[in-house]
Amino acid sequence: MNFKAPEEHGLLRDSVRRFFARNLSETQIRTMDRERRIPRDIWKEFGELGWLGLSVPREFGGSDGDAGTSVVMGAILCEELSRQFPSLAMDWVLLSMTARLFREHGSAEQKAEYLPRLARGDFIMAFGMTEPSGGTDILSLTTRAAMEGNQWSVNGQKLFTTFAGEADAIAVLCRTDPIENGKRARGLSLVLTPRHQKGVEVRRLELMGMRAGGTSEVFFDDARAPSDAVVGQRGRGWYHLLSSLDEERILSAAIYVGIAAAALDIAVQYAKDRSAFGRPIGAYQAVQHPLVEVATELAQIRLLTEKAAWLLSQGRDCAGDAAMAKLAASETAVRATDRCMRVLGGYGLVEESALERLFRDARLGPFSPISNEMVKNFLGEKMGLPRSY
Ligand SMILES: Cc1cc2nc3c(=O)[nH]c(=O)nc-3n(C[C@H](O)[C@H](O)[C@H](O)COP(=O)(O)OP(=O)(O)OC[C@H]3O[C@@H](n4cnc5c(N)ncnc54)[C@H](O)[C@@H]3O)c2cc1C
Repeated sequence: MNFKAPEEHGLLRDSVRRFFARNLSETQIRTMDRERRIPRDIWKEFGELGWLGLSVPREFGGSDGDAGTSVVMGAILCEELSRQFPSLAMDWVLLSMTARLFREHGSAEQKAEYLPRLARGDFIMAFGMTEPSGGTDILSLTTRAAMEGNQWSVNGQKLFTTFAGEADAIAVLCRTDPIENGKRARGLSLVLTPRHQKGVEVRRLELMGMRAGGTSEVFFDDARAPSDAVVGQRGRGWYHLLSSLDEERILSAAIYVGIAAAALDIAVQYAKDRSAFGRPIGAYQAVQHPLVEVATELAQIRLLTEKAAWLLSQGRDCAGDAAMAKLAASETAVRATDRCMRVLGGYGLVEESALERLFRDARLGPFSPISNEMVKNFLGEKMGLPRSY
């Protein structure tokens, strides 16, 4: 056992903190949150800093070809981004998942076309899986694509597609082929559909949390995609997504570690600065103890998340650890932001307080990218209990 973090982890954490100190004030973040959008230029800056290339192989302009080290560094980056601006971390996770999808399943042409642009912050792809019929039961989706002449025609509707407004393309999970042997997961493909065209309409959702992530409803009405737009094998799109689940859960966990850490920093500082009855409020046990509990839970979720990332980096089975990390971190962030907000009293409700934003952003965790009920179903099954769904 060795709990000493390598030097590059500290350097990465410092560089994110420096970036925010120099480039993005809380006021600017608040404006993006209110306007519900992150300007594209930020991704170019991220590209220059090498933060988009962690999952992109060196030959395509990234810094790594190995999923392993990238996920450990990715989790650190994600935690630090989330500490400052969770919506930005959520969008970064999608860019990281895009890199993984092309790296693992893209054709030679797709890799050459998209990976270098992704690493530069010049290509944004959204993932369209969830539909109005449900995100948990995703295989009930009804969006379809069929070849018409030498193009795909995509028809249907997606709900909660993050980044759809800014994206250059949307990877649409849709039915291209019939259900095989009663298996709904078969016959689904990921069709890379250009975003800017007549057949694609995007309506931004007015969400309460993670507002700047740009999550939208998307309507496809005879949207066109070239014949070579399927990413990976036709009819196997769902399975391609499954291979990234562990990484997605680990990076999501890191988002909630970041939120809990940021909430704690703010509350501890406030407890030192604010006085009541002649003493700093942090001197009272009723204020101090909840903060200690948050600090303890934070240490637990950070360890769980780091362990899951490390296991994945070693190519070892981490499905249970990744699921537990996501479950624990997301529930902790909800509790932590609630407890920390109480320390701030009325100021916790003021919009200029970052804690108010963190409290709202934390609400996404218990149900996305997978709901914690489904995580528990999965973990229960892993424990040998009967499948419950
Ligand atoms: C900000 C934001 C960003 C998102 N980004 C994307 C994106 O980029 N791409 C994308 O495709 N999707 C995205 N989503 C969708 C997200 O992944 C879904 O919200 C999530 O999968 C849950 O699906 P649902 O909202 O349809 O809930 P439902 O599936 O309707 O579930 C509702 C409730 O029922 C429970 N439930 C359902 N079935 C069971 C069961 N068998 N056992 C126990 N409990 C059950 C769930 O746990 C949940 O509590 C995003 C959502 C949000 C809010």
